[in-house]
Amino acid sequence: MSYLDATGRNAALLALRRLGAAAVDLLLPPRCIGCGALGARQGELCAACWGALHFIQAPLCRCCGLPLPHSVVGEPLCGACVVAPPPYDRARAALAYDDASRELVLAFKHRERLAGLDAFAAWMRVAGAELLVDADLVAPVPLHRWRLLSRGFNQAALLAARVSGRGSRACCLDLLVRRRATRSQQGLGGDARLRNVTAAAFAVRRRHRARVDGARVLLVDDVMTTGATVGACATVLRRAGATRIDVLCLARVIRAGSGAI
Ligand SMILES: [Zn+2]
Ligand SMILES: [Zn+2]
Repeated sequence: MSYLDATGRNAALLALRRLGAAAVDLLLPPRCIGCGALGARQGELCAACWGALHFIQAPLCRCCGLPLPHSVVGEPLCGACVVAPPPYDRARAALAYDDASRELVLAFKHRERLAGLDAFAAWMRVAGAELLVDADLVAPVPLHRWRLLSRGFNQAALLAARVSGRGSRACCLDLLVRRRATRSQQGLGGDARLRNVTAAAFAVRRRHRARVDGARVLLVDDVMTTGATVGACATVLRRAGATRIDVLCLARVIRAGSGAI
């Protein structure tokens, strides 16, 4: 299984780089996967970073997974999901995206600190336990090709591969492709234009179309901010015949002032 795009270009180079990183990991003393401080166990956080993280706890909006006030009972919807249901069925995330988790995500994304991968996947499996049970297919939000080539890896794909595990659930790392929006925007209003741009930015890879038809897909990403990106992917998957689209992220932005209805 490759963590790369379908062409597999750069595979040998990246394998070497990863081998090199693994060798360096063995030689150096273990560091915190967040701040890089010495003293934490391999692949773990130091006490300060651990204490600063905010794991998302129930009660949650049953749709988008937004944490709700503790006074809420049952399985309510948040205000935003009542007003405008998102294109996906359910979204869950392990962490609130704040200063502490931003450090963790940036270290993972830009400094190739991959030691945290197992911990991230374990947290995500807990946050998304219900979603994983219902998934036939796990797939990452794709990176645009030039970004993949410049960065060398898609962090969402690394998470998707780890989260899906070794069970019967299939993991398809190149299910979706990110491309330029090419459809004409003429005659569309502001909101429709934005929707069109985002959905047109993704497509189901032609050779995987048959797998998507009738499947329950779990989309994986590192961070959910406005939900526009996963929403666009969900729209594309729905059009291709997916019967359920859930979203599982490492961290998500918690909007101030949002709550239950
Ligand atoms: Zn730390
Ligand atoms: Zn919601």
